[in-house]
Amino acid sequence: MTDAAFQKCINPDCAAEFDCGQAIFKCPQCGELLDARYNWDKIEVPGKFSDLAKRWAGRDNRLDFSGVWRFRELLNFCPDKYKVTIGEGQTILQQNDSVAKYVDMKPGRLYLQYEGLNPSGSFKDNGMAAAFSHAKMIGASSSACASTGNTSASVALYAHSCGLKCTVLIGSGRIAFGKLSQAMDYGAQTIQILGDFDDCMRHVQDVCTKLGLYLLNSLNPFRLEGQKTIMYRIIEQMGWTTPDWIVVPGGNLGNSSAFGKAFYELKQLGLIERIPRIAIINATGADTLTDLVNNKKLTWNDGKVDQKIIDDYYADLTARNFSPHTCASAIEISRPVNLKKCLRTIDICNGVVRAVTDEEICDAKAIVGKYGLGCEPASAATIAGLKHLRAEGVIAADERVACVLTGHPLKDPGVTVNYHKEKQGQFSNAPVEAPNKLDEIIELIKS
Ligand SMILES: *Cc1c(COP(=O)(O)O)cnc(C)c1O
Ligand SMILES: [Zn+2]
Repeated sequence: MTDAAFQKCINPDCAAEFDCGQAIFKCPQCGELLDARYNWDKIEVPGKFSDLAKRWAGRDNRLDFSGVWRFRELLNFCPDKYKVTIGEGQTILQQNDSVAKYVDMKPGRLYLQYEGLNPSGSFKDNGMAAAFSHAKMIGASSSACASTGNTSASVALYAHSCGLKCTVLIGSGRIAFGKLSQAMDYGAQTIQILGDFDDCMRHVQDVCTKLGLYLLNSLNPFRLEGQKTIMYRIIEQMGWTTPDWIVVPGGNLGNSSAFGKAFYELKQLGLIERIPRIAIINATGADTLTDLVNNKKLTWNDGKVDQKIIDDYYADLTARNFSPHTCASAIEISRPVNLKKCLRTIDICNGVVRAVTDEEICDAKAIVGKYGLGCEPASAATIAGLKHLRAEGVIAADERVACVLTGHPLKDPGVTVNYHKEKQGQFSNAPVEAPNKLDEIIELIKS
């Protein structure tokens, strides 16, 4: 452990503190979420953000090569000897004027952060590098997670790279094939439950408690510390300036929670002058956050979140036997575990929340595929959401916007193939059937 870090309950009426040598994941006193916190005066944080980037030149040091650990002073909870890395965070920020045009933004203002370029193909690897380091530090030998797919792929990859066993729980029939193939190939014990993600999430917490397994869902505060670095890399690639907006898909709300914390800390440390605004995008078939924030007016309220609004909302979901449905399986979640931390982010970043339809998601995904490096459906919700916010005038055409494209296009080939082959949307690009004859093939190409 480093003496600079500790865990703290986010409930201001409790505010209990714990050292980092324990894997507890929820406050033992009040049941609320925990944060990783730092005594900044015990950490030598570089004076300028750009000092951290200089490490990139020393790529032969594995910690400097990691897009997570080269920012290590900003997530200083464990000594270097425990740090796990497999080269995560080598991701790029692409300015994309064609996608900008699609959402009605001025040229030069839209940036796409491709987190699909991580080792397992999603942003989850940022979190796993940090969480598995914590797991190694406290001597865990077995791990588990609930997953809509990408968490299981990432957990499986990191677990076997650092010698932990792992079990993943996934909803039966709810997982994209690319992701399922990874979990199996990377050697995870894969348990398909006849239920949805929310069921898996509920069970995995009990499984971890009963069997003493290390939990890798985003309830894990150390995982979220790793995900803060996605924001550091965006700032870095923008020449150490902050964008006006960050746009991120909202599922279990780990990313949005981590991003708000990242900006809050950077501001506190004097490493940035201005905190960007954030837009969190749900799918309409899994829009708990949108409903609670925009319709039920749920807010962070200095940590005194109105629990009754949440309880009533979930009781209604249960009474209706509601199960979320969207083609963006990574955000098919109706009881997001990080809800309160996300409300805090909305408070810190003056955030907004929107929901977009599957049709809008698939069209936006086709645009990112055609003009960019491609992404999976959940990631494209950012582009669809941005299009809404532009049309509403919430975001101006000349503001600088960074959309976080959370996963790789090959994660979910099923959605892509259906969209194009079945001509499901505006940008479908179906293959053309041709007879096995040269003349006719040539005619087709010319036509
Ligand atoms: C996990 C995941 C999400 C959802 O992120 P949260 O942090 O749970 O809100 C979105 N997109 C992809 C590709 C994911 O894997
Ligand atoms: Zn507490």
